[in-house]
Amino acid sequence: MSGTKQKTLAVHAGSRLSGGRSHPVVPAIHVSTVSYCDSSDDLDSALDGGDFVYSRISQPNTVMLEEAVAALEGAEACVAYASGMAALKAVFEAQHLQPGDAVVMPADGYGVSRLLYKQLSARAGVVLHAVAMTDPDAPARIAALRPRFVLAESVTNPLLRVPDLRSLARACKEAGAAFAVDGTFPSPYGQRALALGADYAIQSATKWLNGHSDALGGTVSGSKERMAVLRSARLLGGEVQGPFEAWLTLRGIRTLPVRMRAHCEHALHVARRLADSPLFERVFYPGLPSHPDFAVAQQVLENGSGGMVAFELRGAGRPEGYRFLEALRLAKPGPSLADVCTLVMHAASASARRMTPEEREAAGIRESLIRVSVGLEDPDDIADDLLQAAAKGVHP
Ligand SMILES: *Cc1c(COP(=O)(O)O)cnc(C)c1O
Repeated sequence: MSGTKQKTLAVHAGSRLSGGRSHPVVPAIHVSTVSYCDSSDDLDSALDGGDFVYSRISQPNTVMLEEAVAALEGAEACVAYASGMAALKAVFEAQHLQPGDAVVMPADGYGVSRLLYKQLSARAGVVLHAVAMTDPDAPARIAALRPRFVLAESVTNPLLRVPDLRSLARACKEAGAAFAVDGTFPSPYGQRALALGADYAIQSATKWLNGHSDALGGTVSGSKERMAVLRSARLLGGEVQGPFEAWLTLRGIRTLPVRMRAHCEHALHVARRLADSPLFERVFYPGLPSHPDFAVAQQVLENGSGGMVAFELRGAGRPEGYRFLEALRLAKPGPSLADVCTLVMHAASASARRMTPEEREAAGIRESLIRVSVGLEDPDDIADDLLQAAAKGVHP
């Protein structure tokens, strides 16, 4: 699928419900939790899934959002959730793991996912292994562990490592493991995990899909069979997204490709300018040739290298990191990503807060690590702000 196609899908997919003769260009927000039918036969058929009848079962705005995300992911189907964490939990639970089963997750991923999977594994008697997915021996380790389920993050949070999803997917297939990829950082515009061999493509829709920090959401995309299992579980568990959140997320998706193009362009510019400054010990951006996964990124990412940049402030610990955040004049020290405005975060105290110090150390997340979600402001203004704050933070 070409970039042009993704752009067209982003604008049109999921814009129309079936039935009816006229179609609003902007979909309505369907707030009613319940619908009724004039005939009992119609109600009967609706309750069997033939129509909307109760919004925990199915809801028009959610269905439109799911159609759009499925199209962007190149998936047969998609299931939307109230948050990215609800999506990650649903995929874990859909594996029906037994005591003694092995699960593999990234050593350097999102700290909250790590804690969630630790708790779910402990409860189920499952043995959880943390593997650095970008190590050359990661596929061999997966083969040796023979897990039932593997979660990868691509691109990883916060170090922006880019695993070779194709070889991980092969190892999972040989081991008989279901393979899920949290692709929140590149968004489906920057990477389509299913085409690279994943069984589940997970997004925190709160981030780039929404793009404006105004709705929580999560999505899982994949085959009809796998999504039917998730849908049945969601009907019982009720982790559904509300209609307004689904509507806002779909509205965000309409501009995903144009936003991502600018975010990627700006991030590359900012990364290059920071890489030229002695204030930073290391600058991480998958589109810089100095990045350890530059070659892999060229193969598995499309349409640019993403809107995230990370760096280590030279000679900084936590106090200097905090001073850096307070010295920002344009960017906001907000612990999220993917807004139109630049958001900056001290990784060890925010996204990796729920990891133990040992886990952070093993993952390579130092106290000097700062993560930036590069916004749509002028990229030189963003770089200037980061440079002046680094100078103030480290040498006050
Ligand atoms: C934010 C995030 C999540 C969690 O998503 P929520 O929508 O906040 O629940 C999961 N994975 C990654 C990589 C994230 O950045």
